[in-house]
Parts: sequence; C-alpha cells; structure tokens
Amino acid sequence: MKTNNKGLIVITGASSGFGMEMAKAFAKDGYPMLLLARRVEKMEAMNLPNAICKKVDVTDSTAFEAAVRDAEAKYGKTDLLVNNAGIMLLGEIANQDPLEWKKMLDVNVMGVMNGMQIVMNDMKARRMGTIINVSSVAGVQPFPTHAAYCASKYAVSGLTQVARGEMASHNVRVLYICPGAVGTELLGHTTDKAIIEGYEQWKQSVGAVNITAADVARTIKYAYELPQAVSLREIIITDTMQDA
Ligand code: NDP
Repeated sequence: MKTNNKGLIVITGASSGFGMEMAKAFAKDGYPMLLLARRVEKMEAMNLPNAICKKVDVTDSTAFEAAVRDAEAKYGKTDLLVNNAGIMLLGEIANQDPLEWKKMLDVNVMGVMNGMQIVMNDMKARRMGTIINVSSVAGVQPFPTHAAYCASKYAVSGLTQVARGEMASHNVRVLYICPGAVGTELLGHTTDKAIIEGYEQWKQSVGAVNITAADVARTIKYAYELPQAVSLREIIITDTMQDA
C-alpha cells in the first residue's frame, strides 16, 4: 500500500461514475481524500478509509473552499485536485432551454475555476501539487447536439492550458483529460429522450461499449503518480472502437 506523504487528494463529483472509481482506486493505496458532491450518502456508502465526504455544490465557492480548508486541517494541504464534477444536458441550440446551458456552464466551467482558485496559491507556495481537470473529447472536437456541452468542455481544455502556463514556473502540474463515451450516469440527465436513444444506438453500433469508468480513474491515478517533474499535459482516452 502506498500512502501520500504529500498531502490531501480532493475529488469533485465522487458520488458516481469516474469520481467514484477514482475514490476507490486512491483509497486502495491509502491516500487521504476529500470527496465532494451533492449526494453525500452515495459517497459515505463506499465507506472508504481516510476519506472525508462532504455535500458540496461546486458552484458554491464558499462551501467548496470551507470543505477544502477543513479537510486540509486534518490531512495537510491539497496535493491533488481532480475537478471532475460535471453535467451533460444535450440539445439543439434552436430548441434547448437556455437554463440548461447556464446550468452546464456554471458547473462545468465555474466549478472548475472555483476549485483551481481554492488550491493554486498554496500549491505555488509549496512548489508542488497537481490539478487535473476532466474535459472531454467534446472539449477538442464538435459533436451534434453537444453545443453548450462542447462550449463548456472547450472552455475547460482552454483554461487548463492557460493555467498550466501560470503554474509551470512554480513546479505545479496542471493537466486535462478528455474521455470519450463511457457508461456512467452522465447521459441520463439529458432531458430529450430521442437524443439519449440516438447516443446509445451510436455507441452500440460502433461497439464502443467496453471502456469503463475504472479505466479512466486508473489513468488519472497513473498521471498523478508520475514524478512531479513529469507532466502528462493532455490525455485523450476513448474506447478503441469509438470512431469519432
Ligand atoms: P456522472 O453523472 O456519473 O458523475 C458526475 C458527478 O458530478 C456526480 O458525482 C455528481 O454528483 C457530480 N456533480 C454534478 N453536478 C455537481 C455539482 N453542481 N456540484 C458537485 N458535484 C456535482 O458522470 P461521469 O462520471 O461520466 O462524469 C464525470 C466527468 O467526466 C464530468 O465532468 C463529465 O462531463 C466528464 N466526461 C464524461 C464522459 C462520459 O462519457 N461518461 C466523457 C467525457 C467527459 P451529485 O449529483 O451527487 O452532485
């Protein structure tokens, strides 16, 4: 078992999907963690050692920061922040409710910016630390019905590259990972049922159904466990059979 003598690991969106698998993977190696999401009971049910679970909406920067500071008081400063919390509400621009765009931009972009600001200055001062932002293949290429989601994920890809520049001379790593389609709860929040069906049909038809959330989680863990001097700046990870 590895333990982290470098400090705390903070994972947002740890109640489901990639975040939940990351929490399990890091817990196996004894890392101290702060797990954040709105459904705190789902995180608590994992019953992981050295893990503080807090009900936090990442758009609430005050609550987000308070949770991080409390956990840091117990486990030391944050050495890894994974800005993973996100939502995907697909739709066509001409018809989609603009409130869905706003929700997505708030969580997927503002949530990430909030998290970065909370940990960056301490990382700079310590001259160590890693921030991993979860973008998407939809953050580097367009997909039909993904306009606002693409807008949010292109933003994550772009802002991460700027942040990497800000933090490089301070020896702090800032990376982003762009997963392709992976079966989690993500698609289920889209309100247009025809879009959900079309998405599932495409995945089945190309056979892009075998990559798992655990595969994404262990890739993130791998990037973190490389030496501080090694930065896997951009990772694109998809099912081998994903054709777009
Ligand atoms: P899930 O829907 O399974 O998990 C999303 C997580 O984000 C949940 O834990 C949810 O918790 C949390 N979350 C959502 N909104 C908020 C909020 N306002 N505050 C705090 N937590 C929040 O999806 P995935 O695991 O698939 O998604 C994780 C990330 O990966 C997202 O950023 C997504 O965009 C990205 N991604 C996913 C892909 C996929 O195909 N699965 C592909 C590419 C990128 P709760 O509801 O309890 O708050």
